[in-house]
Order: sequence, then structure tokens, then C-alpha cells
Amino acid sequence: MKNNLGVIGLATMGANLAQNLADHNFRVAIYNRTGARTEELIKTYGKDRGLVPFYNLKDFIASLEKPRVVLLMVQAGAGTDAVLEEVCGLLQKGDIVIDGGNSFFKDTIRREAAAREKGLNFVGMGVSGGEEGARRGPAIMPGGSLAAWEKIKPIFSQIAAKDFKNDCCINLIGANGAGHFVKMVHNAIEYVDMQLIAEIYWMMKLGLRLKNEQMAEIFAKWNKDKLNSYLIEITGKILKTKDKKGKYVLDYILDSAGNKGTGKWTSLESLDLGVPSFSISAAVFARYISAFKKERIKISGYYKKNWIKTRLSAKQLEKALYAAKILAYAQGYELIYLASKKYNWNINLKELSRIWQGGCIIRAKFLDNLYRIFKETPNLENILLSKYFRAEISKNIKDLREVAAQAIKNSLPAPAILSCLTYFDSIASKNLPANLLQAQRDFFGAHTFQKKVDGEFFHYQWE
Ligand code: NAP
Repeated sequence: MKNNLGVIGLATMGANLAQNLADHNFRVAIYNRTGARTEELIKTYGKDRGLVPFYNLKDFIASLEKPRVVLLMVQAGAGTDAVLEEVCGLLQKGDIVIDGGNSFFKDTIRREAAAREKGLNFVGMGVSGGEEGARRGPAIMPGGSLAAWEKIKPIFSQIAAKDFKNDCCINLIGANGAGHFVKMVHNAIEYVDMQLIAEIYWMMKLGLRLKNEQMAEIFAKWNKDKLNSYLIEITGKILKTKDKKGKYVLDYILDSAGNKGTGKWTSLESLDLGVPSFSISAAVFARYISAFKKERIKISGYYKKNWIKTRLSAKQLEKALYAAKILAYAQGYELIYLASKKYNWNINLKELSRIWQGGCIIRAKFLDNLYRIFKETPNLENILLSKYFRAEISKNIKDLREVAAQAIKNSLPAPAILSCLTYFDSIASKNLPANLLQAQRDFFGAHTFQKKVDGEFFHYQWE
């Protein structure tokens, strides 16, 4: 009997996706460079339950029904290129190879073109939800040709998470690198969401002097309203988790966060595209500066801080966080909107807002508002133009300003909060002082400046 599809790469993600596929009655051929992982997975999942182990790539490929569908879940970068070269050499015209890793979208564009030349279908597929998502239902963002999508849709729709209406969290995002692009921006939005929550936690702890249990209760309450989301939910749980000795786990975790690069890629792409994604870069830099622990210890010794107890209420923090979240998503969605134009992807933002409702890390009630907005106005360039968010911002921006001001007065670092506000104050300004920037550039470098009235470029003899 032939296998329905094959999975290569059986570390955390591949092993869990393979089990999820087998749970849905697919016969899944599995292969990993290091055979021990394959053996381990069969031991964990059980023999003859739909996973068919292979220790040789040729036999693995030969075991698949045609057109063959091969899912790669290997390390992004050189690892993916190495496996692809081997696999593509064994596949035949019309076969489909899917890269489900976190590949950089420009690599995906290159790989798709190379595979197409060989007559193969290449799909760059963003998969979100980590280990649990892969096992129980991830949000899936495939990028590739319509023909390839139609062939893989019946398989991956079955294992995807469900949205608020119980539909599958999967749809074709666009051609070539579109799926990996939106997965990358998803991760960057996740960075900002997380950083905003962390800054609000810090305001509660140092500014309002709240105890872990009190903060946990507030987060649990927020999770029942507009801020309802996976990240708010787990923050509440983290805050109250105690170890066996009765100590709060959060309180002995080092304040130094790492990253795997998708936030950096998004910031670089924003710079390349000329899109002002202030908060995405701020959230990346916040992680970088957290890793400067030794330097922070040294410098903080010279600049003592006096914490003043702030008079903010939990309600104000909630409203500020909600306003900042709207502004973070405004930046992320605008980046996708403009990239979609540049790369001719025609990304459907309504569908994307639906796909992100389940399985992924940024899943949130909030995404239903985005879904409704893009249903009404599919080509909206900025969510701040929508009637709904205009009203929401006007109800909550005062609190964001107050929280930002309190953070500054109390020397509490709040890069994500401040950058969201800066984004808003800039994008909502009809006039900016960039006329002076033009004048300065023309003064010292004869770069010319553009005139208000006729838009003509002009050089002035300043001296
Ligand atoms: P990983 O640690 O990123 O990669 C390990 C896997 O890649 C192993 O199967 C390893 O094989 C294989 N590999 C690496 N270099 C190889 C090479 N040159 N030739 C053949 N195989 C090679 O695994 P992961 O965390 O499961 O992630 C898989 C992919 O999904 C990655 O692209 C990752 O970025 C993405 N992703 C991860 C998560 C997550 O939460 N972990 C979430 C979404 C997406 P060996 O066992 O032989 O070393």
C-alpha cells in the first residue's frame, strides 16, 4: 500500500505534525537524517498506527502515491537547502514539495522558481502554534500555485486549527513566498504583543506595586473582555504558577530574552520596503537590550532610580494595552498590505484575520474585528481608517498617553508602548517637521527639496 504523503524532519514540529496527520487517518511515511529520531517517534506513537518509518530517502520517496506530497520540517536556512537538493533529485514532474519550516520568504521565492524549472510544485508553508499547535491543530499559511494548493488542501485542512465559526485555519495566501512572509509578520506581531504585555506587567509590578496573584487575577479578568487572547491567558497562568517549594517560577527567571530571527527579518524588510514599523523594531531591540544584562548591571549602578508609586488604575492599563494593540496591528497589517502590492501576492487580509483566529500564538478575539473590517472594506490600507477602530482609538488613546507618561516619569522602560504612541502621533499628523529635514539636506548636500504648491524639486542657494 502506498503512503499518502511523507514528512522529512522529525524534531519537535515534524514529529507532532506527522502524528496529527496519522490521527486523521493518513498513511504518513516518515524520515529523519538521524535515524534515532525516527525510531523514537515510532516508539512514542506506536507501530502500525499510520506512521511508516524509513531510513533511506530513496525508499521513502518510492513509497509515496503520485503525485507525491513531501512535507519538509527541517531547520531553516542551509539545512532546508541541503534536504531540498536531495529530495528534488528524487521527485518527478508534478510532485509537490512543501517547506513547512520558518524559512525566509526570499529564500522561498528562490526555491519556488528553481523547483518550477524542474516541473515540481513548491509550497512555502507557514505553520504557527508551536509544539501543541502542530500536534492538535496549527494555523497554516501556504504560499504557492493554485494547482498545488488544490492538491494539498484536502490533507492540511483536516489537521488545521478551527476559527471562531469552526472553519479550518488554512487558505492559500498567495504565490511563492507569500505564506512565509505572513508567517514572518505573524511572529513579529507576536513580538510586539508579548512586549506590550511585559511592559504593562512591569508597570503593575513596579509602578502599582501589585503582587503576582493580584496581577494574575487582573489578566484573567482582561481575558474575558476585548483583550481576550492566548497570550493574555498564559500570562495570567504564568503569574500565579508556583513550583513545588511554593516559589513563583516567574520570579526566578533571568530577565534576558532570546529570539530566532523572524522579528529581525521583519524589521529589515520594513526598512527595505520603506514601511514605518516602529513597534516591531522596538520589540526586537527590547529583546536585544534585555540580553545586555552585565552592561545593564554596571550602568544601573551609576544611575539610581526612584520608583514613585503610580496612581494608574487597572482599567487604565487595560485600555492602554488595548489601544497599543490596535496600533501594533495597524503597523503589521500595513506592512503586509504594502508587501502584497510589491510582490503581486494579492493577499486577502480578511482571510488572514480568519486563519489567525485559531491555533497560532497571536490568536485573539480581536482578530474577529479585523475579519469584519476587511470583509466590509477588502482594500483598506490602514485599519485606523475603519469606523470601528476610529471609535476604539478615540475611547482609549487618552489612557495610552497617560500610561506612557507615567512610564517616562517613573523611568520605566516602555519601548513598545512609546513606539505605538509615536506611530499613532506620526501617522495621524497631517503635517510633520520634515520640511526642515528637506531644507537641511538641500543646504549641506544640494539634494533639492520638493515644494508644497506644485510638487516641483528645487535647489536653493542658501548662502
Ligand atoms: P529544528 O530544531 O529547527 O530542526 C531540526 C530538524 O532539522 C531535525 O530533524 C534535523 O535532523 C533537521 N536538519 C537540520 N539540518 C539538516 C540537514 N543539513 N540535513 C537534514 N536534516 C537536517 O526543528 P523544529 O523545532 O522541529 O522546527 C522545524 C522547522 O519548523 C524549522 O524551520 C523551524 O523554524 C520551524 N518552526 C518551529 C516552531 C517551533 O515552535 N519549534 C514553530 C513553527 C515553525 P537531525 O535530527 O538529523 O539533526
